[in-house]
Amino acid sequence: MTTAYVTKATLSKIGGLLDIPYEKSNSAQLAIVKIIEEHTKEKILSRLELQSMASIIVVSDILNSETPHNIKIKNQNKIDREQKKVRMIYYKNKMTYHHYDNCPKLSSDYENFSIPDEIPENKIDEYRRFFISNKELFYKNEAAFYASAGSFFNIPLTRSVKTRYSNSGKRNLLSSNELLSSSNQDKVSFYVAKALDFYQNNKKPIIKYGQASHLLDNFLANRKITEQDYEVVREWGILKSDVKSEIIKVLTGINEINDQRFSEEIFIALGFEECSTCKSLKQKN
Ligand SMILES: [Zn+2]
Repeated sequence: MTTAYVTKATLSKIGGLLDIPYEKSNSAQLAIVKIIEEHTKEKILSRLELQSMASIIVVSDILNSETPHNIKIKNQNKIDREQKKVRMIYYKNKMTYHHYDNCPKLSSDYENFSIPDEIPENKIDEYRRFFISNKELFYKNEAAFYASAGSFFNIPLTRSVKTRYSNSGKRNLLSSNELLSSSNQDKVSFYVAKALDFYQNNKKPIIKYGQASHLLDNFLANRKITEQDYEVVREWGILKSDVKSEIIKVLTGINEINDQRFSEEIFIALGFEECSTCKSLKQKN
C-alpha cells in the first residue's frame, strides 16, 4: 500500500462525495457530544459544527475500511450542480492527495473570493469568468474592479470579500512540551478549558455572531460588525477549531505523527490527483 496524505479541509469535502449512512453520522455525533459533556455543560459547538466533525470522522473510517473497488461515490452530476450554486469564485477545487507528509501545500492556506449578493443566480458563472479574466485589476485596485464589474453587469456592486481558508491540521501545534507527552483526552481538557475561559470573557459578541462565522467577512465589509468584535469571533473560531481537532483525533486515532494518512489507491478511486508539488519532489529524489 502506498501512503498518501490529505488536509482536513479535503477530508471534510470528501464527506460531500460519499453517501454517508445516517446511523454512522449520528453515532459519531453522539460520541463527540459525550466527550464535550465530560468537560463542560456549555454547548460550545453548533449543530452544523457537530455535523461536519461527524462527517470527517465517518469519512476517515470509510477511507480506512473500504476497498478502492467498493467505495461508492454519489452521483457526480448532482455534486457538480450543488457546487456550482456556491457563491464563490472557485467552486471546484481540484481534489488532490499528497505523497509527502511535509509537503508545504498540506499546511498552506488558499484563497477564495465571494460573489456579491447583487449578482443573480443565473449570472454566477458569467461573474466567475469576468472575475478570473480581470483578477489583475482586482489585486491592483478593488474599487476600480467593482466599478468595471458593475458596469459590465449593469448592477451597482458592493465589495466582495477575500476568504483565506486554513486547510491544515498542522496549524494545531502544541504550545508546551508538557502537552506533547500528555494523552489525547488531556489535550481535549486543555483546549476546552482555554476556549471556555475565552467564552466567559467575551460572551456578548460570541453569542451574537458565533453561529454566523461564515458570514463574518461579509458583515465586516458591510460594517455590520465592529473590528473588535470581528477579532473576538475569529479568535473564538480558532479556539473552537483546536477543540474540534483534538476531539477528532480522539475518535479517529489520528495524531501528530499519524496525520490524515490513507492509501493512495483509495484517493485514485475517488478521482483525486497527486499534488503537483509532491510530484516534482518525487522526481528529484
Ligand atoms: Zn503535496
